[in-house]
Amino acid sequence: MRVLVVEDEVSLAETIRDGLQQEGFTVDLAHDGAEGLWTAGETPHGAYDAIMLDLMLPRLSGYEVCRRLRARGIWTPILMLTAKDGEYDEADALDLGADDYLVKPFSFVVLIAHLRALIRRGAPERPAVLSAGDLTLDPAERRVARGGETVAVTPREFALLEFLMRNRGQAVTKSAIIENVWDAHFTGDPNIVEVYIGYLRKKIDHPYGRAAIQTVRGAGYRLAADG
Ligand code: CA
Repeated sequence: MRVLVVEDEVSLAETIRDGLQQEGFTVDLAHDGAEGLWTAGETPHGAYDAIMLDLMLPRLSGYEVCRRLRARGIWTPILMLTAKDGEYDEADALDLGADDYLVKPFSFVVLIAHLRALIRRGAPERPAVLSAGDLTLDPAERRVARGGETVAVTPREFALLEFLMRNRGQAVTKSAIIENVWDAHFTGDPNIVEVYIGYLRKKIDHPYGRAAIQTVRGAGYRLAADG
């Protein structure tokens, strides 16, 4: 069984690799998100039985790696590693597209148990289509539709709408949007969020006489649960 471990803490990554090798796994390491994405993408399809993915990674977050892998049709089971004091909790890891999660620090016995169970279950089903009223977003086909009519969106608009839809009915802050839709190391002008919210409104709301994307004063934005 072959596993890709994407973990920026080098000593932890090496400890995991050594332990897994003793259990008979073949292990490849990547030390940041971009390297992990590249390695998973370049390795022949199905070569990895599982990917262990740290959530907080340099260059690309674990969430972004996960999202891009799924967008490319790579459905290798993903075990997400999250920190207890991190910004995300366990439920979020699953919402973000992972198949299972472990909270650091974890014992090696628990790690092996999760990994074997994950590999036994095999590759996940394609994700369910997200919907809010008659607004739908299909993560597998990268398709957005309003009342069944396809709406053409750019990859960034798609990612923004997907984030809003996964949090539908709840206000999300501009900084949460930047971290999830751009990345945690984004250093540009945060007003970029408003610009993209405007683009999306022109595509999914205005032509249909709707106002699904709401501005929440002092908080951020919210996608109405009923679309
Ligand atoms: Ca990390």
